Amino acid sequence: MAYKSAISIADALRSSGRATVRGWVYRKRELKDKIFIVLRDSTGIIQLVFSRGTPAFDVAQRLNLESSLVATGILKEEPRAPGGKEMHVESVDWYYIGSPYPINEDAAQADSEYLLDVRHLWLRSRKMQAVLKIRHTVFGAVHEYFRRNGYYEVQGPMFITAAVEGGATLFKVPYFDDFVYLTQSSQFYLEALIFSLEKVYTIAPSFRAEPSRTRRHLTEFWHAEAEMAWYHLEDLMRVNEELISYVVSKVLEERRDELKMLGRDAAPLENIRPPFYRISYDEAIEILQKKGVKINWGDDIGADEERILTLQFDKPIQLYGFPEKIKAFYHRNDPKRPEVTLSVDVLAPEGYGEIIGGGERIYDEGELVDKIRRFGYDPKDYQWYIDLRRYGSVPHSGFGLGVDRLVMWIAGLEHIRDAVPFPRDIRRKYP
Ligand code: ATP
Ligand code: MG
Ligand code: MG
Ligand code: MG
Repeated sequence: MAYKSAISIADALRSSGRATVRGWVYRKRELKDKIFIVLRDSTGIIQLVFSRGTPAFDVAQRLNLESSLVATGILKEEPRAPGGKEMHVESVDWYYIGSPYPINEDAAQADSEYLLDVRHLWLRSRKMQAVLKIRHTVFGAVHEYFRRNGYYEVQGPMFITAAVEGGATLFKVPYFDDFVYLTQSSQFYLEALIFSLEKVYTIAPSFRAEPSRTRRHLTEFWHAEAEMAWYHLEDLMRVNEELISYVVSKVLEERRDELKMLGRDAAPLENIRPPFYRISYDEAIEILQKKGVKINWGDDIGADEERILTLQFDKPIQLYGFPEKIKAFYHRNDPKRPEVTLSVDVLAPEGYGEIIGGGERIYDEGELVDKIRRFGYDPKDYQWYIDLRRYGSVPHSGFGLGVDRLVMWIAGLEHIRDAVPFPRDIRRKYP
């Protein structure tokens, strides 16, 4: 099998003499006596040159974009070719002629709905390749951060019976002669696990029936969540800063080429290291009011307000101390100021906004039951969650990081859909 002896295109660009490469036709240009094919694999692109009168030329003539082939030839310096080298093809060792390819990466056909319809093909584009490699590095770095800092990886269930983040965005699923919901967050299950393992994390999908299409919401997203026994808000904010800074530093270390390919200016990322800005909800309201935003203490800070806030600063913001009524019931209230919670959101800079939501959890049984009632829920629906506080409770904190949003910001993407191979939203469940 000729393709077994092929080397990667990245390696071919570093070699000389005779080599075999394999991949897909990325570009094709036909002259009178020559055909130029830019071949693509997972590592890069290289220009192949076919000369008229050879059997290889006849094959090259018949290849459409994205047809696959294995070719052997001689590598020569060519400053005008991508990567500074081209291969003069001696033989085509294997090929598969594809139908005419329906996407033209250069053309104005970059209409986003069409590219979503053919997402299974669009994944081959150099843009998606770059995003997917950055995404790979981001997921790896999140795992590394947690594993190097003493967290155990755990898994919660995807089928659940009670809302974590409010009933409005629950997906209901038939379950034998009953029904269940798809999980919105693994938080409660992670909280149960801290009593066994103290510091735990998971990277899992979360599902939310988000009714509108925004640039940062999907109905299925990847959620990195952690819960830590004995941690207070201050400790949590340190973790947030370290985790985000670590991930960004890994991307800068491994994915410079991909950032460049996406036209992502790396300069704002170079700046990402602890400490981040810490701004209280009260201060945020003042800043927004000074900017002319009509907002009052107690109002939620939405995507538009987050954008305005982040544009004032050159690093992420840890926005803390949200009023009780705009945060979920499980957030612990500040004992010194009960109308606010010990909660924190991390807002990514450059207008991106919320990537992390977290805070101290209520650890006292009576306090939790009171708050569940105050929020109009029935403690019976949260029986096992309340139970956790009945047998040796401890102060603890945790957070959820939207990994797709993190990729979106780091890669400098317009839309969260661009950060995910097969995005799901209210209008899109195919392919
Ligand atoms: P938002 O205010 O943007 O709706 P949220 O406050 O509802 O987000 P949390 O419940 O705090 O989100 O979830 C933790 C993190 O999960 C968020 O900070 C975000 O990064 C991510 N996340 C939440 N909802 C979505 C979604 N629909 N699509 C993608 N990521 C999401
Ligand atoms: Mg939400
Ligand atoms: Mg929010
Ligand atoms: Mg949140």
